[in-house]
Amino acid sequence: MRDILPNSASDGPLHAAIQQLEQAAKLIGLDDAVLAKLENPKRTTIVSIPTKMDNGSLRVFTGYRVQHNMDRGPCKGGIRYHPHVNLEQIVALAMLMTWKCAVVGIPYGGAKGGVVCDPTEMSRDELERMTRRYTTELIEVFGPEKDIPAPDLGTSPEVMGWLMDTFSMNKGYSVPGVVTGKPLAIGGCRGRREATGRGCTFIIQEACNSMGMKMDGSTLVLQGFGNVGSAVAELVYPTGIKIIAVGDVHGAIHNSNGIDITKLLQHARETGTVTEFPEAEALPNEELLTLDCDILVPAAIEGVITQANADRISAKMVVEAANAPTTPEAHDILLNRDIFVVPDILANAGGVTVSYFEWVQSLQAYFWSAEQVNKQLEDIMVRAFHAVYDEAQRRETDMRTAAMTLAVGRVAEAISTRGIYP
Ligand code: NAD
Repeated sequence: MRDILPNSASDGPLHAAIQQLEQAAKLIGLDDAVLAKLENPKRTTIVSIPTKMDNGSLRVFTGYRVQHNMDRGPCKGGIRYHPHVNLEQIVALAMLMTWKCAVVGIPYGGAKGGVVCDPTEMSRDELERMTRRYTTELIEVFGPEKDIPAPDLGTSPEVMGWLMDTFSMNKGYSVPGVVTGKPLAIGGCRGRREATGRGCTFIIQEACNSMGMKMDGSTLVLQGFGNVGSAVAELVYPTGIKIIAVGDVHGAIHNSNGIDITKLLQHARETGTVTEFPEAEALPNEELLTLDCDILVPAAIEGVITQANADRISAKMVVEAANAPTTPEAHDILLNRDIFVVPDILANAGGVTVSYFEWVQSLQAYFWSAEQVNKQLEDIMVRAFHAVYDEAQRRETDMRTAAMTLAVGRVAEAISTRGIYP
């Protein structure tokens, strides 16, 4: 890793990912050679993507695909379209995908891809041409038995449909198993849209049980009301949990008696935001996370719980629905204050788990009902929660460290069982 990215920032995502890996490696007594293998991604591909723009000009975008590890199965991970995409970030995210898949026990390694572009400034046709060329440049890298992309920031089921079609056109036959998160009409999976939120809801339930808390009557604060946050809200609401505050990029709202989530979902659908909801008071965004509550669910962006606010978080538990919402320094502060933190690689693994179901269905050309999807998701999330919880008890450590030792241990076992080729 250090060889391929010698200039990576000491406060950047890759540095943090390697630190986490090294800490877990130390705890499980990992062999140095295996650690070195895990610090370095298996394959990094950088492509240039010449794309005809609508005005007749040609723009050359830069795209990445990083495959971190394939010892437990093919690589799996999203593709993001964003102006800030860079190699260091993509390598770090690919590594986190390896741990996420291992922690829930699905047979994948981690990957991530991205294109440096601003999809909000591009037309649909430009995005389609760029996606098709990106896919073609990576035609030997992707494949249902090698590397299976999915949507991430700035990409959508429609983009996955173009990717699947381009891959299939190049092969000469339909290959639905090459992507997940694709539309239902071409082999998408029922329940995929709300899978991350649903998985997170099972985790909240198990965490409450383990801490002797009842969901009914507990108070919850939610940051983010997008795909993940709104699904969490919708799915925990019927348990009797009181969601007392919700925030999004535009602002936050608060009602200490509990917000009517059915009405809030309708309001957000109509206005595009949770703000101005008539049955709650406005709250400044910076006050949302420090509100007094039982359960805090950050489901928006990374780095929102920091050294600056961690000592004022007053929740009993934090369930990380977003990726990397807590900085390492803030995590230490939360632990010192006896706040139970369920880490992102466990709490939001429902998305990749249902992606796995989609891949299985695509390979078999046999499709499951929503009930089957949700039941299998529940089985995997509940099992994963207890595996991590038991590991934490056994090692007398926190849930994040336990999730990492479990995940790294599983990948390391696969490596040592297979041996190093040749
Ligand atoms: P989304 O774009 O659908 O929603 C994001 C939400 O966060 C929106 O409500 C937005 O207004 C809010 N937000 C953005 N910036 C904010 C800010 N500065 N302050 C407060 N709120 C802000 O995204 P999503 O798919 O719901 O993903 C949310 C998080 O979950 C991300 O960290 C993502 O990486 C992670 N995640 C998503 C999935 C998935 O399946 N969608 C899977 C795993 C992890």
